[in-house]
Amino acid sequence: MNKADSQRLAWDLERLGYQHAQRAEEADIIVLNSCVVRQNAEDRVLNKLSDLKALKRKRPDATLVLAGCMVDSAVDGLKSAFPHVDLFLRPQGFDELLTHAKDLSSAQTQNISPTPSLPPTTFVPIIQGCNNFCTYCIVPYRRGREKSRPLAEIICDVQGLIQGGVKQVTLLGQNVNSYGHDLPGKPDLADLLRELNQIDGLARIRFLTSHPKDMDQKLIEAVASLDKVCEHISLPVQSGDNEILKAMRRGYTIEQYRELVFRIRSAIPDVALSTDVIVGFPNEDLERFRRTLDLLQELRFDIVHVAAYSPRSATIAAQRLEDNVEPAEKKGRLCQVEEIQEQIAAERNALFVGQAVEVLVEGRKGSRWQSRTRTDKLVFFDSPADCLGQLLQVDIEHAGPWSLQGKCGVDNGEE
Ligand code: SAM
Ligand code: SF4
Repeated sequence: MNKADSQRLAWDLERLGYQHAQRAEEADIIVLNSCVVRQNAEDRVLNKLSDLKALKRKRPDATLVLAGCMVDSAVDGLKSAFPHVDLFLRPQGFDELLTHAKDLSSAQTQNISPTPSLPPTTFVPIIQGCNNFCTYCIVPYRRGREKSRPLAEIICDVQGLIQGGVKQVTLLGQNVNSYGHDLPGKPDLADLLRELNQIDGLARIRFLTSHPKDMDQKLIEAVASLDKVCEHISLPVQSGDNEILKAMRRGYTIEQYRELVFRIRSAIPDVALSTDVIVGFPNEDLERFRRTLDLLQELRFDIVHVAAYSPRSATIAAQRLEDNVEPAEKKGRLCQVEEIQEQIAAERNALFVGQAVEVLVEGRKGSRWQSRTRTDKLVFFDSPADCLGQLLQVDIEHAGPWSLQGKCGVDNGEE
C-alpha cells in the first residue's frame, strides 16, 4: 500500500514538473513514506530521519516530509522529536505537500510536464483502511476504517493508466475482498473484476490482500472464469493453531481455512497461493508453533511471508498479552519457517522446468529481463529485443525457490 501511495505521489509531482532525484542530497523535496507495522520498519524510518538531519542543516531550503503510518493524530509529539521535518502527513494525505510543491515549482520554473511515465504494471488502491482489528495489528489505528472507492472511479482510473501504457493492475486493500460493502448498491470485488475484465488494452488483473473470512464462492468463481484475472491469491493464515488464531481475533479456524484452500484449488486449477505467518505471538509454545509448520507442510503454499511478532503499543495484544517468546526463539522459529518454505517453493517451482509459460515483462534486472507468470512466479530471461510491457512465451530451463530462468523465442526468431 505504501508503494502504491508513493508511486501516486511521484506521478502527481511529475505532473507539476518535478523529476526523480538520484540521491536525497540533490532533491528539493524528500518524502519518507513510513510503515510502522513492525518495530524494524519503524526503526529504519527513525535512522533515515536522523541521517537527514545533517543534510537539512546544509540545505535548509529542501523540504523534508514525513508521511505514512508513523504520523498519527498526535503530530505535536512528532514535531518536537523531529524539528528538522517540515511537513507531517497522514497516510494518503498528500494534498498539503502538493499545494506546497505547486507554489515551489511555479516560483522556480514554468516547465510543467503533464505526463508521468508509467510502468507496465502498477497498483490501484480500491479500499482504504481496515475494520478487522486483529489484535497484533496497528493498521486500523493508523489507516482508519474501511472506505471503498466508487466502482466507476476505479474503472476511470484504470482506463487512464492503460492509456499511459499500463498492462497489469494489482487492486489493493488491506482487506481487498471486503470491497464495496460501504458503497450504494454494495458492489463487491467479483463485480469490479467483471467490469475491469472488459477493458480493452488491459492484459492482467491481480488483487491483494484477501482475508480468509471474507473469501466467498462468488469471488473464487470470478477468478476461475475471468480470463484477465490471474490465478494467484494472497490469503494470510498467520498461524496454524486455533488458540493463537482466536487470540489474534482472525475470525476463522484452521479447519475453515483448510476447507477454503481446498475449495479454491478445486475451482482454480494451478492457482498459486501465498500466505503470511507470524511466529512468536504471545503464548505460542513449541506445540502451537509445530502446528504452523505442519500446516505449511500440508498446504504447500507458493510463497510464505514470515514475520516475528512485534508488539505495537496501541494494539490489543500489546496491551493485554505478555510478549513472552524470547527474541532468539522468535528468530529460530522464523528461520525454521523459511527453511521449510524454501524447500517447498523449490519443489513447486521445479515442476515448471520444461514448460512454456506466458510472462508479462516488468523491467530489467542487470542484463536480464524480469517478468512474471500469471501465477506471479518471477522469470528471468535474456533478449536483445525491447521486451518491456510485452506478453511473451518463455521456455523454463532452470528453477530455484525464488525464481525461474528461461529462454524466450523472440531472441532467435523461433516464434
Ligand atoms: N490485511 C492483511 C491480513 O489480513 O493479514 C495483511 C496486512 S498486514 C499490514 C501485513 C502483514 O504484516 C500481516 O499479514 C502480518 O503477518 C504482519 N504483521 C502485522 N502486524 C504485525 C506485528 N505486530 N508483528 C509481526 N507481524 C505483523
Ligand atoms: Fe491488520 Fe490485516 Fe488484520 Fe486488518 S485484516 S487488522 S490489516 S492484519
